[in-house]
Amino acid sequence: MSQKKFVYAFAEGDGKNKKLLGGKGANLCEMTQIGLNVPPGFTITTETCLDYIDAGHKLPAGVMDEVRRHMAQLEKATGKGFGGADNPLLVSVRSGSAISMPGMMDTILNLGLNSETLQGLIRQTGDERFAYDAYRRFVQLFGKVALGMPDELFDGPFEAIKNREGAKEDIALSAENLHEITNLFLDAVHGHTGKPFPSDPFEQLEIAIQAVFNSWMGKRAVDYRREFRITPEMANGTAVNVCTMVFGNRGFDSATGVGFTRNPATGENQMFGEYLVNAQGEDVVAGIRTPKPIAQMADEMPGLHKQLVELRDKLEAHYHEVQDFEFTIERGTLYCLQTRNGKMNAHAMVRTSVEMAESGLITREQALLRIDPEILQQMLFPRLDPKHKASSLAIGLPASPGAACGRAVFDADRAEQNGHGGQLVILVREETKPEDIHGFFASQGILTSRGGKTSHAAVVARGMGKPCVAGAEGIHVDTHARKATIGDTVIKEGDLITIDGTTGNIYLGAVPTVEAEFTDDLKTMLSWADQAARLKVMANADSSHDALRALSYGATGIGLCRTERMFNAIDRLPIVLEMIVADTLEQRQEALDKLLPIQRSDFQALFEVMSPRPVTIRLLDPPIHEFLPTESQLVSDLEHLRQLRSTARGVDILVETIRLLSPGEVAAMHEIHTLADSNIVDAAIVKKEAILKKVRALHEVNPMLGHRGVRLGITFPEIYAMQIRAILEASAECTKRGIANHPEIMVPQVCTAAELRAVKKFVGEIRERVEKETGQKLDFKFGTMMEVVRACMRAEKLAEEADFFSFGTNDLTQATFSFSREDAENKFLPMYNAVKILRDNPFEVLDINGVGKLMELAVGWGRQVKPELKIGICGEHGGHPASIAFCHRIGLTYVSCSAPRIPIARLAAAHAALKQ
Ligand code: ADP
Ligand code: MG
Ligand code: MG
Repeated sequence: MSQKKFVYAFAEGDGKNKKLLGGKGANLCEMTQIGLNVPPGFTITTETCLDYIDAGHKLPAGVMDEVRRHMAQLEKATGKGFGGADNPLLVSVRSGSAISMPGMMDTILNLGLNSETLQGLIRQTGDERFAYDAYRRFVQLFGKVALGMPDELFDGPFEAIKNREGAKEDIALSAENLHEITNLFLDAVHGHTGKPFPSDPFEQLEIAIQAVFNSWMGKRAVDYRREFRITPEMANGTAVNVCTMVFGNRGFDSATGVGFTRNPATGENQMFGEYLVNAQGEDVVAGIRTPKPIAQMADEMPGLHKQLVELRDKLEAHYHEVQDFEFTIERGTLYCLQTRNGKMNAHAMVRTSVEMAESGLITREQALLRIDPEILQQMLFPRLDPKHKASSLAIGLPASPGAACGRAVFDADRAEQNGHGGQLVILVREETKPEDIHGFFASQGILTSRGGKTSHAAVVARGMGKPCVAGAEGIHVDTHARKATIGDTVIKEGDLITIDGTTGNIYLGAVPTVEAEFTDDLKTMLSWADQAARLKVMANADSSHDALRALSYGATGIGLCRTERMFNAIDRLPIVLEMIVADTLEQRQEALDKLLPIQRSDFQALFEVMSPRPVTIRLLDPPIHEFLPTESQLVSDLEHLRQLRSTARGVDILVETIRLLSPGEVAAMHEIHTLADSNIVDAAIVKKEAILKKVRALHEVNPMLGHRGVRLGITFPEIYAMQIRAILEASAECTKRGIANHPEIMVPQVCTAAELRAVKKFVGEIRERVEKETGQKLDFKFGTMMEVVRACMRAEKLAEEADFFSFGTNDLTQATFSFSREDAENKFLPMYNAVKILRDNPFEVLDINGVGKLMELAVGWGRQVKPELKIGICGEHGGHPASIAFCHRIGLTYVSCSAPRIPIARLAAAHAALKQ
């Protein structure tokens, strides 16, 4: 085995190799090599981390030798000495894996300080306060991150001295105060570990490196990877970056900040960010002091602002992507400490895509591909109803857009408990920390009283697309008492509040919200997507209301209209019941005659809305007793009615008696008599008994595999005949009125071509009659659902009868696995997923290997017979990006999904075509 290289200097590492160097490390290398001012340093590889973990948390032999060689290079480059008392070299030790996990692994700053180098630092800078501040930060971070000490051990003494001195901000503390604090910290470490604080810089460095490696397997990092499904193929191990310290806290010509090359909340093409003068990096991120907007720097430090603009331009020109960068200014010199692709909400992603493509920075293809289709869902997030009358209780920074309403909770554990218990919660904190992450997942939105737009809460909420209001300084959060106060108003735990992350407003109670609308940028981007895509995107829609919404989202037709949804409307159910309980064909026909005009007008409305796009209508599918009450319900109803019957008899007798004995009071009895009229009760009993008989007669052991779909259509042809007639008459009526329409009649649950032929025969007969009656020539398609395994196997035969196929992948998945969905999801699927017998829930993510294989075979066989056969998918999978990619690959014509998934499907269809 050849000698592995563990360490790469920033000047030599391959900036493209994020897997090996981590995202932070690779970008530090890349920035160094394109000439940006990065403090010198080196990266220890992620492979070293994996070796370290494999060896039972021991550094592989030779790592520290390489580190020493690189430290020697740093000394040479900076002219400083590591552990040297004259001109001490200090470094930061920073984690970073291939995928950025904000705040997941902690950084140690100012490493290399001890009592000797401290004196050197004081001599060299002539700034005792600065030196002690650096020292106390180092001891604190090292204690916390590398030695695993709890925050309180440091926060306690720190606050105590601050209070004693009456200091509101850290900056008000003197050198002596900081000296005293440092000594308290050193004691705390000694007390906690039983050993003095390590003073040898190389020992410090080795402990720190190991701590970073350990953090890869820490609970926070493991949880994060699980939650975001970060697999080892995506990121495996963390790198360690050792970087020469630069100081933003060396006075008023020093500063530190974070920047976005464009506004990450709106996408606006303007540098955005925050900075603090005379401060060290972590101060901005931790939200300890509230920073100033970068625009203000143009006035305060114009020369440096100009340099910052240049840095921004270079970053975008090089990366062709919005960057999120960290910088520090030490005594007038600007350093870039980190860059990565900016995390933005969907609005900002779409806007920047359109603007970067239009300005030629990226191609349209790149503009489409940089957006994960799934995130478009955010653009359909609710916002506050603009007409609402609520007045804002307090205002904070609009840190992540969207409106959310929920019950206030004051810690992440409670948020998790209540959130998973089904409650909508808003997490309210003074500021958040990485260990609060589980509370974010469970919350609708996040509200903090401290910190800026780049605070932890803001960054994480934006990444998740959850609304966040940060730094609402008017709110006093008291975690222990579980309440927040704003002036006289108290928000207790469990109180409803609404936050608006778009404006920063906070409201008491639930403020009404409205759905978001499409921005012009989204329309532009999706029009590019449609040009790139081959798959058409249709909608599953059952009413003209749904259809209108689907159209506004860009549906090119309706791929599935479920007629039974129309049957379920409250005014129709009695007629449907009549149809079901009918004993004779005449009785049933009577009910169907009432349903015909209703269905016809439903279809007509759909054709009008969708004109001239195709509308695929599925004939009645579910088992008919789905429209009936259950047997046990009926039995109990009947029991009550029978009891009432003897009461009613009693009332009859009472009325008779009173009429004889005291005729004057009969009028008073009238009301009770009409209520408990024994004739009405008898009639009700007869009706219920008839329904019960029908329910018993229709009883099936396994209704989903029973008398439903085309089976029903063939045994009760008058039902399908009514539906077909309604479709064709609606079509004729539209045509007559000049409304172009393209109905497609779809037969569910087909397993053999003979079934399809039988239905096709009625269709032919009805067509002839309707054409004769209306004088209109009808133009429609006839096709079949593919949701039965046998149908797939017989695709050649079905293709002879059908103009189109539509895969019903919900049923097809059940049939392929022989799982019933409800039982699977409620009983064993979660466990199957947990132990990885199945990686995904096949009802959400199309099972490409099994169900997909069947589909692929059926497509091939069907097109052998009819090359122009139109084929689509209308199961839930039709809106899932990975499933859409598969549908593209096997040559489907279209996907059909619910309206809110349409934008996602359009972009996913483009991705599928572009990535092929
Ligand atoms: P994170 O991944 O949490 O952003 P970083 O490694 O970027 O962690 O560091 C945390 C903070 O410390 C950042 O503000 C960063 O700019 C600052 N920092 C890291 N290394 C240095 C350094 N060598 N000199 C000055 N500041 C640094
Ligand atoms: Mg950072
Ligand atoms: Mg089905």
